[in-house]
Amino acid sequence: MATASHRRSLRTRRTLVVSAAVVAAGVGAGALVLTANASGTDVYHQTLAAKDGWASSGSGTTGGAKADSAHTFTVSTRAQLVKALGSVSDTTPRIIKVKGTIDANTDDSGKKLTCADYAAGTGYSLSAYLKAFDPSTYGRSKLPSGTQESARAAAQKKQAANIVFKVPANTTIVGVPGTKAGITGGMLQIQKVDNVIVRNLTFSDTEDCFPQWDPTDGDSGNWNSEYDAVTLRGATHVWADHNTFTDAGHFDSLNPKYYGREYQVHDGELDITKSSDLVTVEQNLFTSHDKTMLIGSSDSEPSGKLRVTLHHNVWKGVVQRAPLTRVGQVHLYNNVYDVTPLNGYSLQYSINSRAKAQVVAQNNFWTVPSSVKVSKLLSGDGTGSVAGSGNLVNGTTTDLVAAYNASNSKKIKTTVNWTPALTAGLESSAKNLPAELAKTAGAGVLTAN
Ligand code: CA
Ligand code: CA
Repeated sequence: MATASHRRSLRTRRTLVVSAAVVAAGVGAGALVLTANASGTDVYHQTLAAKDGWASSGSGTTGGAKADSAHTFTVSTRAQLVKALGSVSDTTPRIIKVKGTIDANTDDSGKKLTCADYAAGTGYSLSAYLKAFDPSTYGRSKLPSGTQESARAAAQKKQAANIVFKVPANTTIVGVPGTKAGITGGMLQIQKVDNVIVRNLTFSDTEDCFPQWDPTDGDSGNWNSEYDAVTLRGATHVWADHNTFTDAGHFDSLNPKYYGREYQVHDGELDITKSSDLVTVEQNLFTSHDKTMLIGSSDSEPSGKLRVTLHHNVWKGVVQRAPLTRVGQVHLYNNVYDVTPLNGYSLQYSINSRAKAQVVAQNNFWTVPSSVKVSKLLSGDGTGSVAGSGNLVNGTTTDLVAAYNASNSKKIKTTVNWTPALTAGLESSAKNLPAELAKTAGAGVLTAN
């Protein structure tokens, strides 16, 4: 049905969008660089290339590439997305093309839903909740329980029913180029399924209306939220490619404090937990966020899983967990970190290796302002490893582990129990990565063909 003029207008729009992204990235508008699809197939049917990280092992990652026309959908609303996803038990290959931005906080008729809409009828109110669990009267030894906690949980359940999108096996979810495709306020949940591709989508401001107070979390308690923009739980063979993850819409600087602690409405950008395995995360932009990526959610996750490759991603203005790794064999190569404070987000650390994680960090590039010490780029609990070489700080080869260990008592180990083999596209020098990835990483770069 696409007429020539329709195609032309799409093409024009795409060019404008890409130019804007390139300008925003600080690159001259004339240097328009588009990432072509290597395999010659279109953006919707592309599968993960051979040897492209852990997700290429075994049966590889093909997503919904084999979908028939009855299982190929174009969606622009929340209701259409829910319908296209179907039942999580239906493993028929499907391709879901997201056109434009879908607001997860809308009802089936497209009407905007607010936190008050979810709270209605549950009896929850923030002021009553704050009164009920004030540490000066409730103490700090036990988790909230009682009427207001039950009401909070009920309200959260109502929001979850609306904003959590359960992805079945053998699915590709892909943004239509040139449409600013993405999901705002939602969580893609890839749970106990195999073979999923997520690409060319902007995930923004996934927000929990009903954070939970945990007085036992840390020394002073914490407000914790439930939703990640994309969450992998017991998922296998997942390829996340050319997406953008950001809090834009609600930066953490807007969060109030209650009981002296930040009322944190965000959780992870892309969390890979509960024995997820064989994951490749490639050419994404992670930005303007605090708890960016967990690999493993508990120190007691069983060994042998959580094998993840992260390459050619940009981490720009994130506070921590880029990633926080536990247990698994994780390969980080050719990533760019810019730890300059951005939108109120200041670095705690980039990579945390704990619970015997076996991290290989190779040929990555850090841009570090003078306000940040190089010893702050890593973190650990004294049991995790970070091997690998060729990491640059402001262009200079730097031993990140030595810098960390020189000023910390819980030393990071430098040997690992594996050698990465699935390393397609590994570049032997990180030198040119900042300029390269400013043009190629994130959503809005891929073209249809
Ligand atoms: Ca959490
Ligand atoms: Ca999470």
